[in-house]
Amino acid sequence: MTMDLCPLCKQEGDRVALITVESLVKDYFRKHLKSYTYGFCTNPKCNVVYYNNDTDEIYFQRDLKVPVWFKEQDNPIICYCKNVTLKDIIDEIAIKKTSSTVEDIISKTGAMKGCQCKTQNPSGKCCRPVLEDAVAFALELRDKEK
Ligand SMILES: [Zn+2]
Repeated sequence: MTMDLCPLCKQEGDRVALITVESLVKDYFRKHLKSYTYGFCTNPKCNVVYYNNDTDEIYFQRDLKVPVWFKEQDNPIICYCKNVTLKDIIDEIAIKKTSSTVEDIISKTGAMKGCQCKTQNPSGKCCRPVLEDAVAFALELRDKEK
């Protein structure tokens, strides 16, 4: 379905609901939103975040209030509800060594407990899979030091 392809990189994206886009675009753009669902470009190298090819809407990273974690960030936000970054997780696991599992990170940082994914996370989804990847990454860093 060509309507699901990002207008810039032409890769197939995910879908997000209006409520997510509405919450995360800068205030100026809110009143211009015309669609109920948007494409969400998942290509890390592409600057487009949200789009709708039927209404010719495109929103770039710079049009959003928050950085999208997989779009080439130095210190990506992992949990948007609680503002937990990759660096926070690396700190806990590889530097302070006070956590070693996803559950530890959840109890130490409050990550994933915000439950406002629909309006806080650019994907509109729970950060759990991303959190799991971040923990695995931090464990790898920790074990490399040994
Ligand atoms: Zn794209």
